[in-house]
Amino acid sequence: MPVWGTADHRHFVLIPDQILAIFDTYRQVDFEAKESGGILLGKCRGDHIELCYVTAPAMHDKRARTLFTRQPQIHQEIADRLWCESAGQITYLGEWHTHPEAVPEPSTIDVANSKDILKRHPSGAVLLFIIVGTSALHVQLSSSDSSHVLQSLEP
Ligand SMILES: [Zn+2]
Repeated sequence: MPVWGTADHRHFVLIPDQILAIFDTYRQVDFEAKESGGILLGKCRGDHIELCYVTAPAMHDKRARTLFTRQPQIHQEIADRLWCESAGQITYLGEWHTHPEAVPEPSTIDVANSKDILKRHPSGAVLLFIIVGTSALHVQLSSSDSSHVLQSLEP
């Protein structure tokens, strides 16, 4: 399973091939493709995170070339259902969205959004933020007081 890790190898994120394939289908390769996004769901085992499920853009999400605003309801329903079905093992991990650039970097709006989301979680919570570029992924773990960008590690 493809792995992303911090430089100090203290934190790892496992992203299964099926989920990379889902991200691939939303890459903004076409000139007219709109931004996509959703939430990330999976399992936390200490410093290791395994991504198990991602939600895809829903009908009422606002989508444009460089904008993605999701309406919470449908994504929340999926998160609640998976939490129940997995007896609480699969939880909300964070958010993903696409960018129309090869190697994506968080925008100032993305940074503000991630801070807002962290504020709505207990202090000390670590959340995962993924940006899907046209050729690379930006994988970031953030808490209220620190942020790590993870690199793709060779298996
Ligand atoms: Zn963005």
